[in-house]
Amino acid sequence: MTKQQIYWHTTVKMPDDSNLTPLPEKVDVAVIGGGFTGLSAARTLAKRGVRVAVLEAETIGWGASSRNGGMTLTGLKPSMRTVIKRCGRDVAKRLFQCSLDSVDTVERVVNEENIDCGFSRYGHLYVASKPNHFDGFKDEVEFMSKEFNHKVRVVSPEELKTEIGSSNYHGGIVDEASGGLNPAQYVTGLARAAEKAGASLHARARATSLGRRATRFFIQTERGAVEAESVLVGTSGYTGSVTKKLQRKIIPIGSFIIATEKLSDELAHELSPKNRMIFDSMHYLNYFRLWDNRMIFGGRAAFFPENENTIRRSAEILRREMIRVYPQLKDLKVEYVWGGTLDFAFDMMTHVGEMDGIYYSLGYAGHGVAMASHLGKTVAEAMLDGNIKDHPFAAFDFPGAPLGLYNGSPWFLPFAGAWHKILDWLE
Ligand SMILES: Cc1cc2nc3c(=O)[nH]c(=O)nc-3n(C[C@H](O)[C@H](O)[C@H](O)COP(=O)(O)OP(=O)(O)OC[C@H]3O[C@@H](n4cnc5c(N)ncnc54)[C@H](O)[C@@H]3O)c2cc1C
Repeated sequence: MTKQQIYWHTTVKMPDDSNLTPLPEKVDVAVIGGGFTGLSAARTLAKRGVRVAVLEAETIGWGASSRNGGMTLTGLKPSMRTVIKRCGRDVAKRLFQCSLDSVDTVERVVNEENIDCGFSRYGHLYVASKPNHFDGFKDEVEFMSKEFNHKVRVVSPEELKTEIGSSNYHGGIVDEASGGLNPAQYVTGLARAAEKAGASLHARARATSLGRRATRFFIQTERGAVEAESVLVGTSGYTGSVTKKLQRKIIPIGSFIIATEKLSDELAHELSPKNRMIFDSMHYLNYFRLWDNRMIFGGRAAFFPENENTIRRSAEILRREMIRVYPQLKDLKVEYVWGGTLDFAFDMMTHVGEMDGIYYSLGYAGHGVAMASHLGKTVAEAMLDGNIKDHPFAAFDFPGAPLGLYNGSPWFLPFAGAWHKILDWLE
């Protein structure tokens, strides 16, 4: 029987709500959202002597930050060719450099704060799901080298068995700079580090209204009010009506993961001999990796965010997909299934900036383990230094829905899901 439970939560004692402290009346910065973005920002601000409170609706680390695949990746969600078209070559270069810096940020924080989360530069493997997808891989590697001086390597179909124990794919690209970690252990360590630096973290403190009088912000929460000089929003796929203008720019999309029972060492080695972070080239993509000899297999099995129904359906869909990729796993038990919500902007780009005096970092599009950690830090620095407009991720506009046809309730998800399936069939 597969449990609807986040497997990662069984590997660490997550922050809980057993010891709620009163909210401070006044702070310099109030951070809304207690995930990688909010905690990384809080750690940075507190280290610079700022009085900072993190307000989290549920418990610290409750959101995507403790539910994800732990893939600590270079690059952005859109291809770098698309990013050049969208933002121009110079900005694209700064954005790509940010993505490399983001993995360094995670590595540095893990080392500085002694966070026991299994971080390592395992490298990622991007696999071609169809023969024609592989046709562009050689070009892609040359393009990344020429435009970004970033060295990645083509893996031919013949060589692929040295990387993955599946005959389902038609070649790949390896990027050795990417890493992997256990996200629940990492977010728990990050929370501890933020507190150690002097930030106060508050579970069960959902912000319910956010007002401004003169230069100060007044945040009403479920358990009291906080007055702050500045506010940073890091609510990702859970962005709600308290920041309505931001909510209308973010599409919440579900992503789901299963974890198998433990495999033997031999089988684990056969499936992923180099322990890579693996994802495929479909629009409806699968992503998978090993952790502690379990296969952690994720995908966009349903487009709607997590609930009992979408999680149950995803367990079946993902198990089928996993066995298609790895028939060797057909008799293995799937012990855990869970879901979480991703935040997509309408241009699939990440956006940081200031809107009505409120700072934000949003739109990670499933690419936020490294990036949210890094942008939490760099947006916090920019808040203090007063130069958010110079941040690379603030250098292009943050679009809303075409024709404004979106109020934060994603009525179009079934159509988007169907459209992705059609694209996968056509391309
Ligand atoms: C299933 C899944 C797999 C993923 N896999 C990967 C991966 O392998 N690699 C990768 O790079 N990325 C991955 N991601 C994406 C990554 O997890 C996120 O981009 C990242 O965790 C975002 O961090 P965050 O702090 O911005 O948001 P979150 O961790 O989602 O935190 C936002 C928090 O805001 C809180 N909140 C919302 N509204 C309020 C309010 N009004 N008041 C107070 N608090 C509020 C929520 O309760 C939530 O805890 C995955 C995501 C999911 C869901």
